[in-house]
Amino acid sequence: MLVHQAFRFELDPSTRTRSALSSHCGASRYAFNWGLGLVEDQLAATRTLGVLALRQGASTKEASAWARQVTGPVPWSLPALRREWNRQKTAVAPWWKENSKESYSSGLDALARALKNFSDQKRGTRTGASVGFAHKKKRWARRSCRFTTGAITVVDDRHVQLPRLGCIRTKEPAVKLRRLLDRGQARILSATVSEGAGRWFVSFTCEVERQDLPATDPAAVVGIDLGVKHLAVLSNGAVIPNPKALGRYERRMRRLQRAASRRLKGSRRRARTKVQLARCHRKVAGTRRDVLHQLTTRLATTYGVVVVEDLHVKGMTAAPKPAENGDGTYARNGARAKAGLNRAVLDTSPAELRRQLTYKLAWHGGRLVVAGRFFPSSKLCSSCGETKVKLSLAERSYRCEHCGLVIDRDLNAALNLAAYGRRALSVAGSGPETQNARGGAHPRLRPDAPMKREDGTGRPGRTVTASSQGEAA
Ligand SMILES: [Zn+2]
Repeated sequence: MLVHQAFRFELDPSTRTRSALSSHCGASRYAFNWGLGLVEDQLAATRTLGVLALRQGASTKEASAWARQVTGPVPWSLPALRREWNRQKTAVAPWWKENSKESYSSGLDALARALKNFSDQKRGTRTGASVGFAHKKKRWARRSCRFTTGAITVVDDRHVQLPRLGCIRTKEPAVKLRRLLDRGQARILSATVSEGAGRWFVSFTCEVERQDLPATDPAAVVGIDLGVKHLAVLSNGAVIPNPKALGRYERRMRRLQRAASRRLKGSRRRARTKVQLARCHRKVAGTRRDVLHQLTTRLATTYGVVVVEDLHVKGMTAAPKPAENGDGTYARNGARAKAGLNRAVLDTSPAELRRQLTYKLAWHGGRLVVAGRFFPSSKLCSSCGETKVKLSLAERSYRCEHCGLVIDRDLNAALNLAAYGRRALSVAGSGPETQNARGGAHPRLRPDAPMKREDGTGRPGRTVTASSQGEAA
């Protein structure tokens, strides 16, 4: 299968290369802002001329047509922007030779994309989140620069080659990519350098010929519940614990956040604390991503169908509610801060899990089923299909008043998701569209899909103890 895949390495640049990297990213930002200024000036000029024409008694249509003719076409596309840049660069940026031409091109490309998104939105041809007009890139914007042509390669296991920047050592071995390139199984399409919390990275976008084995159990369905207490609980009863490192970082993050808020805005010390905090955030995100990678690889190589919740469901429900003082304000007992922290740590996960699963399942011929936004995975009884009206977050186990099932809350949710996936598949058949199956069916389970051990390796369910005629406490 031919896929686009990114390979990211941390760089270990010399001081000289470091400033060259900065310079390239700065050049990219400069070109972006310069192009944006050009576009804005021209739009403003056209507007002013139009108003003048209107005052002279022209009709609206005539006025705008005349104004546009006088000012000429707005450089809205990448080729147009690049043409203007090449015409004016010697005057506006006499230092342009210091950086690779790719750096300016990368800034103008970003601008052209932003402008296109804006006009697509105006025309109504764009889906997704709404976008406004392009903004000037500020000094503190994320620094990055993309190379699409020139000498871009992995020299050996520890060095990469980039246009103008030359050979740069990597902190991590680039063996995997080097090997793919040697065998002719990968082709580098572009390289992006970027800075994050004081470190430099390069990300190669490659076209890779992948040869993956199909999932070991293609007929198996597994549901995943991402949790607060554990990283994830699978419907086969497996519990993936949170990485231990998180707790330590969490404490440190809270301390740094407090320290930062006490420091004077705009001061050096505050900036320093912010950098420390950013590093901490990156560590947490990195740790979590690693664990997620291990999990998703295991899932994709084992199961044919993986069922997850729609995004943001957990994000909205998992945060502990701060105590309200009655006048619309909230008690500042740390609950609020903790809630924010939980969210920061957790929020990335559902999206990241889904992203990784989407491409990994595709590699192994599996399918991802996303349960609809309103599927009450944690309120539903996985045995009889009864829905609870209320289930507080403090309740760690699910007790069904109807059939007496007592089961771990997260496992219950995972089982419900697995059942949802089975139903979605039987409704949708084997069409390729099941990836986004929203089901839409009644949330209740079919009686033939009760809490069985999950397909697959099936560790025994942990707290599955269905008492006979239990009364809820
Ligand atoms: Zn029940």
